[in-house]
Amino acid sequence: MYVPLATKYRPQKFSDVVGQDIVVKILMRGLQKDRLGSALLFAGTRGVGKTTLARILAKAWCCNNRQDGEPCCKCESCVEFARGGQIDVLEIDAASNTGVDDVREIIESSRYLPTSSKYKIFIIDETHMLSKSAFNALLKTLEEPPAHAKFLMATTEPHKIPDTVLSRVLRFDLRSLDAELIAQHLSSICNKERIPIPAESLALIADSADGSVRDALSLLDQAANLVENDSIQTKDLLDMLHMSDDTEILTLLKLLLAKNTQGAIQQYRKILNDACTPANILETLMNYIHILTCLQLNVEPRKNMANEHIVRQLQDECSSVSAPALSRIWQLLVKGAEEINIGERADVLLEMILIRIIYATTLPDLRDILHNNAKNSPQNTLSKTEAQDLPINSVSDSLLEKARKMFPNAKVEE
Ligand SMILES: [Zn+2]
Repeated sequence: MYVPLATKYRPQKFSDVVGQDIVVKILMRGLQKDRLGSALLFAGTRGVGKTTLARILAKAWCCNNRQDGEPCCKCESCVEFARGGQIDVLEIDAASNTGVDDVREIIESSRYLPTSSKYKIFIIDETHMLSKSAFNALLKTLEEPPAHAKFLMATTEPHKIPDTVLSRVLRFDLRSLDAELIAQHLSSICNKERIPIPAESLALIADSADGSVRDALSLLDQAANLVENDSIQTKDLLDMLHMSDDTEILTLLKLLLAKNTQGAIQQYRKILNDACTPANILETLMNYIHILTCLQLNVEPRKNMANEHIVRQLQDECSSVSAPALSRIWQLLVKGAEEINIGERADVLLEMILIRIIYATTLPDLRDILHNNAKNSPQNTLSKTEAQDLPINSVSDSLLEKARKMFPNAKVEE
């Protein structure tokens, strides 16, 4: 039977965990010195290893031959654990057990001594889903836990956990993994599994995984099936990832900056037809605007955000767009990203956003108008505070019209 890569390569020991070095170090040292307390919280976005770390810690606590903080993975307890049957470790999904009665059951159970290990361990996943009364019930136990009980909580939304609970746990914020690290991990797995996927394709997969090793491995599983004659077609991979060829989105950006509405919309629809999602196009555009801004400010763009060939082409675009226009485009994209998440027709929404972008880049910058006017007729200028109060980034037609009337001599950059 085929075992998915995400299952097969699920870390069994602390040293297997990718990208959480400092947390792993604290946990291993804490185990050696017995300084971890009895309630721990792992916070972080999905797929970064919260539950995995909680499980390894539980396994290490129960292990009979722990070495330097690592579970041995061979003793009776570890073997039972691997089979999913460690009787003293209970996993509770708070998403489906939110009520006070569910928590009371946990508390009741924590009073009984462990059966075969030194500790009785409760792993509570999605802890933030517990109800208010459930948290209250848990609080007392967290204040004075039985000596043999340990509570390991995992959450994607730590801000939803009451402060009273947070103040009684040892909290670890797991970091989202950067694409480079994920790509390295994928590469080592491909070597072991003899999957011939080139580094560039792995980088694309790692990028799409949004910091989650689990998602990356699941995508790798799919991609492995696209391999033919020891290679993978980039087009196939991009389709699978719902990504578009980078250069296609770059073309879209160029058309936007050139204020070519028809061309931009045509290009956008073409990219959409290539099975790329609006969210993906938007994200790529945001990356490009970010890079353009960096380039304009002579700041080195972040690695991994685009390949060198894209950065070089963006460099050529630097002169065609002003810094204020870039800032306006950025704001429209950020707002668009919010809208896309709530709207139903993301494709139409993004199309409207693109039109707004062209419109926004066509507008003159109000600051320039004010500045130019100040030079020409000082008596007509707004004071510095008045100018600052103007909603410059959301300059409307009527406001612009007013500005034009006030300052007929102002030069308007078209
Ligand atoms: Zn063991």
